[in-house]
Amino acid sequence: MTARILSGREIAESIKEEVRDEIARLYEEHGFRPGLTVVRVGEDPASAVYVGSKVKTSHELGIISEHIHLDADTTHDEVLQIVKKLNSRDDVDGILVQLPLPTHIDDSAILEAIDPAKDVDGFHPMNVGRLNQGVRSLVPCTPAGVIEILKRSNIEIAGKHAVVVGRSNIVGKPMAALLLKENATVTICHSRTADLPSVTRQADILVAAIGRAGFVRGEHIREGATVIDVGINNVSDKEFAAELFSADDLPKRLAAIDNRGFTLVGDVNPKEAMEKAGSFTPVPGGVGLLTVAMLMKNTVDAAKMRRKI
Ligand code: NDP
Repeated sequence: MTARILSGREIAESIKEEVRDEIARLYEEHGFRPGLTVVRVGEDPASAVYVGSKVKTSHELGIISEHIHLDADTTHDEVLQIVKKLNSRDDVDGILVQLPLPTHIDDSAILEAIDPAKDVDGFHPMNVGRLNQGVRSLVPCTPAGVIEILKRSNIEIAGKHAVVVGRSNIVGKPMAALLLKENATVTICHSRTADLPSVTRQADILVAAIGRAGFVRGEHIREGATVIDVGINNVSDKEFAAELFSADDLPKRLAAIDNRGFTLVGDVNPKEAMEKAGSFTPVPGGVGLLTVAMLMKNTVDAAKMRRKI
Protein backbone atom coordinates (compact mmCIF):
# COMPACT_ATOMS: atom_id res chain seq x y z
CA MET A 1 0.00 0.00 0.00
CA THR A 2 1.25 3.51 -0.79
CA ALA A 3 -0.18 6.42 1.14
CA ARG A 4 -2.01 9.26 -0.55
CA ILE A 5 0.10 12.41 -0.26
CA LEU A 6 -1.72 15.33 1.37
CA SER A 7 0.08 18.23 -0.27
CA GLY A 8 -0.06 21.49 1.66
CA ARG A 9 0.79 23.52 -1.41
CA GLU A 10 -2.60 23.64 -3.13
CA ILE A 11 -4.49 24.02 0.12
CA ALA A 12 -2.26 26.90 1.26
CA GLU A 13 -2.69 28.55 -2.15
CA SER A 14 -6.50 28.28 -1.98
CA ILE A 15 -6.55 29.78 1.52
CA LYS A 16 -4.30 32.65 0.42
CA GLU A 17 -6.53 33.22 -2.59
CA GLU A 18 -9.59 33.44 -0.32
CA VAL A 19 -7.76 35.82 2.02
CA ARG A 20 -6.69 38.01 -0.93
CA ASP A 21 -10.33 38.25 -2.12
CA GLU A 22 -11.54 39.08 1.38
CA ILE A 23 -8.92 41.82 1.76
CA ALA A 24 -10.00 43.33 -1.58
CA ARG A 25 -13.65 43.20 -0.44
CA LEU A 26 -12.82 44.85 2.91
CA TYR A 27 -11.00 47.65 1.09
CA GLU A 28 -13.84 48.17 -1.36
CA GLU A 29 -16.68 48.02 1.14
CA HIS A 30 -15.03 49.35 4.32
CA GLY A 31 -12.06 51.36 3.04
CA PHE A 32 -9.20 49.76 4.98
CA ARG A 33 -6.48 47.16 4.61
CA PRO A 34 -5.60 44.90 7.58
CA GLY A 35 -2.26 45.68 9.24
CA LEU A 36 0.19 43.14 10.66
CA THR A 37 3.28 43.97 12.71
CA VAL A 38 5.92 41.31 13.31
CA VAL A 39 8.44 41.90 16.10
CA ARG A 40 11.73 40.00 15.98
CA VAL A 41 14.45 40.24 18.62
CA GLY A 42 18.02 39.10 17.95
CA GLU A 43 19.57 37.10 15.13
CA ASP A 44 18.10 33.58 15.27
CA PRO A 45 18.55 32.45 11.62
CA ALA A 46 15.38 30.31 11.46
CA SER A 47 13.32 33.21 12.85
CA ALA A 48 14.74 35.51 10.18
CA VAL A 49 13.54 33.09 7.48
CA TYR A 50 10.07 32.65 9.04
CA VAL A 51 9.56 36.39 9.54
CA GLY A 52 10.76 37.12 5.99
CA SER A 53 8.18 34.71 4.60
CA LYS A 54 5.37 36.16 6.79
CA VAL A 55 6.10 39.73 5.72
CA LYS A 56 6.48 38.79 2.04
CA THR A 57 3.19 36.86 1.97
CA SER A 58 1.41 39.76 3.74
CA HIS A 59 2.54 42.16 1.01
CA GLU A 60 1.45 39.74 -1.71
CA LEU A 61 -2.07 39.50 -0.28
CA GLY A 62 -2.58 43.22 0.37
CA ILE A 63 -1.97 43.28 4.14
CA ILE A 64 -0.03 46.32 5.31
CA SER A 65 2.84 44.69 7.14
CA GLU A 66 5.63 46.05 9.22
CA HIS A 67 8.73 44.28 10.55
CA ILE A 68 10.29 45.63 13.75
CA HIS A 69 13.71 44.06 14.19
CA LEU A 70 15.36 44.71 17.56
CA ASP A 71 18.92 44.04 18.72
CA ALA A 72 19.56 40.90 20.76
CA ASP A 73 20.38 43.04 23.81
CA THR A 74 17.01 44.87 23.80
CA THR A 75 15.64 44.70 27.36
CA HIS A 76 12.42 43.00 28.44
CA ASP A 77 10.90 46.40 29.31
CA GLU A 78 11.78 47.85 25.92
CA VAL A 79 10.01 44.98 24.14
CA LEU A 80 7.04 45.40 26.49
CA GLN A 81 6.80 49.12 25.67
CA ILE A 82 6.84 48.36 21.94
CA VAL A 83 4.03 45.82 22.34
CA LYS A 84 1.97 48.33 24.36
CA LYS A 85 2.44 50.97 21.67
CA LEU A 86 1.30 48.50 18.99
CA ASN A 87 -1.75 47.64 21.12
CA SER A 88 -2.80 51.28 21.02
CA ARG A 89 -2.25 51.82 17.27
CA ASP A 90 -5.50 51.67 15.33
CA ASP A 91 -3.78 50.72 12.04
CA VAL A 92 -2.34 47.55 13.62
CA ASP A 93 -4.79 44.63 13.56
CA GLY A 94 -2.32 41.82 14.24
CA ILE A 95 0.78 41.68 16.46
CA LEU A 96 3.15 38.73 16.26
CA VAL A 97 6.23 38.45 18.47
CA GLN A 98 8.43 35.83 16.83
CA LEU A 99 9.62 33.10 19.20
CA PRO A 100 12.11 32.13 20.51
CA LEU A 101 13.02 35.38 22.29
CA PRO A 102 16.49 35.83 23.83
CA THR A 103 16.62 34.16 27.26
CA HIS A 104 16.74 37.45 29.24
CA ILE A 105 13.21 38.24 27.99
CA ASP A 106 10.24 36.60 29.72
CA ASP A 107 8.31 35.36 26.69
CA SER A 108 5.08 34.50 28.58
CA ALA A 109 4.91 38.04 29.99
CA ILE A 110 5.41 39.50 26.50
CA LEU A 111 2.74 37.24 24.96
CA GLU A 112 0.33 38.16 27.77
CA ALA A 113 0.92 41.86 27.10
CA ILE A 114 -0.40 41.59 23.55
CA ASP A 115 -4.01 42.78 23.18
CA PRO A 116 -5.94 39.46 22.82
CA ALA A 117 -7.91 41.04 19.95
CA LYS A 118 -4.62 41.50 18.03
CA ASP A 119 -3.01 38.19 19.07
CA VAL A 120 -2.79 36.59 15.62
CA ASP A 121 -0.61 33.73 16.93
CA GLY A 122 -3.42 32.75 19.33
CA PHE A 123 -1.00 32.29 22.25
CA HIS A 124 -2.58 34.78 24.71
CA PRO A 125 -4.18 32.98 27.73
CA MET A 126 -7.50 34.64 26.84
CA ASN A 127 -7.47 33.07 23.36
CA VAL A 128 -6.22 29.74 24.76
CA GLY A 129 -9.15 29.77 27.20
CA ARG A 130 -11.64 30.66 24.50
CA LEU A 131 -10.33 27.86 22.27
CA ASN A 132 -10.76 25.39 25.13
CA GLN A 133 -14.29 26.64 25.68
CA GLY A 134 -14.94 26.01 22.00
CA VAL A 135 -15.93 29.63 21.31
CA ARG A 136 -14.71 31.88 18.48
CA SER A 137 -11.13 33.03 19.02
CA LEU A 138 -7.81 33.56 17.29
CA VAL A 139 -6.36 30.06 17.00
CA PRO A 140 -2.65 29.07 16.75
CA CYS A 141 -1.74 28.92 13.06
CA THR A 142 -0.04 25.52 12.73
CA PRO A 143 -2.79 23.39 14.33
CA ALA A 144 -5.44 25.48 12.55
CA GLY A 145 -3.62 24.62 9.31
CA VAL A 146 -3.76 20.90 10.14
CA ILE A 147 -7.55 21.12 10.49
CA GLU A 148 -7.74 22.83 7.08
CA ILE A 149 -5.65 20.04 5.51
CA LEU A 150 -7.96 17.38 6.97
CA LYS A 151 -11.18 19.16 5.99
CA ARG A 152 -10.11 20.19 2.52
CA SER A 153 -8.83 16.65 1.83
CA ASN A 154 -12.27 15.29 2.86
CA ILE A 155 -10.86 13.33 5.78
CA GLU A 156 -13.58 12.84 8.35
CA ILE A 157 -12.70 14.00 11.88
CA ALA A 158 -15.97 13.57 13.81
CA GLY A 159 -16.14 10.26 15.65
CA LYS A 160 -12.57 9.32 14.74
CA HIS A 161 -9.84 8.59 17.23
CA ALA A 162 -7.17 11.29 16.93
CA VAL A 163 -3.86 10.80 18.73
CA VAL A 164 -1.59 13.83 19.12
CA VAL A 165 2.03 13.17 20.06
CA GLY A 166 3.36 16.33 21.74
CA ARG A 167 1.78 18.66 24.30
CA SER A 168 3.42 22.03 23.64
CA ASN A 169 1.38 25.22 23.96
CA ILE A 170 2.22 26.07 20.36
CA VAL A 171 1.20 22.84 18.64
CA GLY A 172 0.19 19.79 20.70
CA LYS A 173 -2.35 21.28 23.13
CA PRO A 174 -4.17 23.58 20.68
CA MET A 175 -4.15 20.73 18.14
CA ALA A 176 -5.92 18.48 20.62
CA ALA A 177 -8.44 21.25 21.47
CA LEU A 178 -9.24 21.81 17.77
CA LEU A 179 -9.67 18.10 17.07
CA LEU A 180 -11.99 17.88 20.08
CA LYS A 181 -13.96 20.86 18.78
CA GLU A 182 -14.36 18.91 15.53
CA ASN A 183 -15.78 16.00 17.56
CA ALA A 184 -12.84 13.61 17.38
CA THR A 185 -12.07 11.39 20.36
CA VAL A 186 -8.68 12.74 21.36
CA THR A 187 -5.66 11.23 23.10
CA ILE A 188 -2.58 13.34 23.89
CA CYS A 189 0.81 11.62 24.22
CA HIS A 190 4.12 13.01 25.50
CA SER A 191 7.57 11.92 26.62
CA ARG A 192 6.18 10.09 29.67
CA THR A 193 3.54 8.11 27.79
CA ALA A 194 4.00 4.39 28.45
CA ASP A 195 4.20 2.10 25.41
CA LEU A 196 3.71 4.87 22.87
CA PRO A 197 3.34 2.58 19.79
CA SER A 198 0.39 0.76 21.36
CA VAL A 199 -1.38 4.11 21.85
CA THR A 200 -0.54 5.64 18.48
CA ARG A 201 -1.59 2.43 16.70
CA GLN A 202 -5.15 3.16 17.86
CA ALA A 203 -5.21 6.39 15.86
CA ASP A 204 -7.38 6.98 12.83
CA ILE A 205 -5.65 10.37 12.69
CA LEU A 206 -2.11 10.55 14.07
CA VAL A 207 -0.50 13.98 14.53
CA ALA A 208 3.24 14.07 15.27
CA ALA A 209 4.55 17.29 16.89
CA ILE A 210 7.59 16.07 18.75
CA GLY A 211 10.71 17.76 17.41
CA ARG A 212 12.66 14.53 16.72
CA ALA A 213 13.58 13.60 13.15
CA GLY A 214 11.82 10.50 11.84
CA PHE A 215 10.73 9.46 15.36
CA VAL A 216 7.35 7.98 14.34
CA ARG A 217 8.01 4.65 12.63
CA GLY A 218 5.90 2.04 10.91
CA GLU A 219 5.28 0.30 14.25
CA HIS A 220 3.50 3.46 15.52
CA ILE A 221 1.04 3.61 12.62
CA ARG A 222 -2.17 1.70 12.12
CA GLU A 223 -2.56 0.40 8.56
CA GLY A 224 -4.50 3.01 6.57
CA ALA A 225 -4.36 5.79 9.19
CA THR A 226 -4.06 9.48 8.32
CA VAL A 227 -0.64 10.69 9.47
CA ILE A 228 0.00 14.41 9.88
CA ASP A 229 3.65 15.35 10.28
CA VAL A 230 4.10 18.75 11.94
CA GLY A 231 7.82 18.32 12.60
CA ILE A 232 10.57 20.30 10.88
CA ASN A 233 14.08 18.98 11.51
CA ASN A 234 17.43 19.15 9.74
CA VAL A 235 19.19 15.89 8.90
CA SER A 236 22.82 15.95 7.79
CA ASP A 237 23.83 12.32 8.41
CA LYS A 238 23.67 10.39 5.13
CA GLU A 239 23.30 6.97 6.79
CA PHE A 240 20.32 8.23 8.74
CA ALA A 241 18.92 9.77 5.56
CA ALA A 242 19.07 6.33 3.92
CA GLU A 243 16.81 4.99 6.71
CA LEU A 244 14.31 7.81 6.20
CA PHE A 245 13.86 8.20 2.46
CA SER A 246 12.72 5.86 -0.29
CA ALA A 247 15.02 4.90 -3.17
CA ASP A 248 13.16 7.44 -5.35
CA ASP A 249 13.56 10.30 -2.92
CA LEU A 250 17.02 9.53 -1.51
CA PRO A 251 19.26 10.87 -4.34
CA LYS A 252 17.82 14.39 -4.13
CA ARG A 253 18.02 14.31 -0.32
CA LEU A 254 21.69 13.31 -0.44
CA ALA A 255 22.30 16.04 -3.00
CA ALA A 256 20.72 18.56 -0.59
CA ILE A 257 23.05 17.37 2.18
CA ASP A 258 26.01 17.82 -0.18
CA ASN A 259 24.88 21.26 -1.36
CA ARG A 260 23.65 22.96 1.77
CA GLY A 261 24.64 20.58 4.57
CA PHE A 262 21.19 19.21 5.45
CA THR A 263 17.81 18.01 4.23
CA LEU A 264 14.47 18.66 5.92
CA VAL A 265 12.59 15.84 7.60
CA GLY A 266 9.54 15.78 9.85
CA ASP A 267 8.91 13.86 13.06
CA VAL A 268 7.73 10.84 11.05
CA ASN A 269 9.88 8.38 9.09
CA PRO A 270 8.50 9.13 5.60
CA LYS A 271 9.56 5.84 4.00
CA GLU A 272 7.72 3.76 6.61
CA ALA A 273 4.71 6.10 6.74
CA MET A 274 4.28 5.86 2.97
CA GLU A 275 4.08 2.05 3.29
CA LYS A 276 1.73 1.95 6.26
CA ALA A 277 -0.47 5.09 6.29
CA GLY A 278 -3.56 5.76 4.19
CA SER A 279 -2.69 9.46 3.83
CA PHE A 280 0.42 11.37 4.80
CA THR A 281 1.62 15.00 4.79
CA PRO A 282 5.11 15.39 3.28
CA VAL A 283 7.97 17.45 4.73
CA PRO A 284 8.65 19.86 3.18
CA GLY A 285 5.44 20.70 1.32
CA GLY A 286 2.90 19.75 3.99
CA VAL A 287 1.81 21.42 7.23
CA GLY A 288 4.60 24.01 7.16
CA LEU A 289 3.07 25.79 4.18
CA LEU A 290 -0.24 26.18 6.01
CA THR A 291 1.22 28.05 8.97
CA VAL A 292 1.82 31.30 7.06
CA ALA A 293 -1.49 31.01 5.18
CA MET A 294 -3.37 30.67 8.48
CA LEU A 295 -1.50 33.66 9.91
CA MET A 296 -2.83 35.73 7.01
CA LYS A 297 -6.33 34.43 7.67
CA ASN A 298 -6.02 35.24 11.39
CA THR A 299 -4.91 38.79 10.57
CA VAL A 300 -8.01 39.34 8.46
CA ASP A 301 -10.23 37.71 11.12
CA ALA A 302 -8.67 39.92 13.81
CA ALA A 303 -9.27 43.03 11.69
CA LYS A 304 -12.90 42.07 11.15
CA MET A 305 -13.59 41.08 14.76
CA ARG A 306 -12.02 44.30 16.12
CA ARG A 307 -14.09 46.41 13.71
CA LYS A 308 -17.19 44.29 14.35
CA ILE A 309 -17.53 43.36 10.66
P1 NDP B 1 8.28 21.14 21.83
O1 NDP B 1 9.70 20.73 22.02
O2 NDP B 1 7.79 22.35 22.53
O3 NDP B 1 7.34 19.90 22.27
C1 NDP B 1 7.64 18.60 21.90
C2 NDP B 1 6.65 17.66 22.52
O4 NDP B 1 7.00 16.34 22.12
C3 NDP B 1 6.64 17.68 24.05
O5 NDP B 1 5.33 17.72 24.53
C4 NDP B 1 7.35 16.40 24.43
O6 NDP B 1 6.86 15.79 25.60
C5 NDP B 1 7.01 15.50 23.25
N1 NDP B 1 8.04 14.47 23.12
C6 NDP B 1 9.38 14.62 23.08
N2 NDP B 1 9.99 13.42 23.00
C7 NDP B 1 9.00 12.50 23.01
C8 NDP B 1 9.00 11.08 22.99
N3 NDP B 1 10.13 10.39 22.95
N4 NDP B 1 7.82 10.45 22.99
C9 NDP B 1 6.67 11.13 23.07
N5 NDP B 1 6.61 12.49 23.09
C10 NDP B 1 7.77 13.15 23.08
O7 NDP B 1 8.06 21.24 20.27
P2 NDP B 1 6.92 22.04 19.43
O8 NDP B 1 5.58 21.56 19.80
O9 NDP B 1 7.20 23.48 19.45
O10 NDP B 1 7.26 21.53 17.96
C11 NDP B 1 7.11 20.18 17.59
C12 NDP B 1 7.63 19.99 16.18
O11 NDP B 1 6.85 20.78 15.29
C13 NDP B 1 9.05 20.45 15.96
O12 NDP B 1 9.66 19.58 15.00
C14 NDP B 1 8.93 21.84 15.36
O13 NDP B 1 10.02 22.19 14.54
C15 NDP B 1 7.68 21.66 14.54
N6 NDP B 1 6.92 22.89 14.29
C16 NDP B 1 6.48 23.08 13.01
C17 NDP B 1 5.73 24.18 12.70
C18 NDP B 1 5.24 24.31 11.31
O14 NDP B 1 4.95 25.42 10.87
N7 NDP B 1 5.09 23.20 10.57
C19 NDP B 1 5.41 25.22 13.70
C20 NDP B 1 5.83 24.88 15.03
C21 NDP B 1 6.58 23.75 15.30
P3 NDP B 1 7.05 16.48 27.08
O15 NDP B 1 6.01 17.53 27.15
O16 NDP B 1 6.79 15.33 28.00
O17 NDP B 1 8.44 16.98 27.13
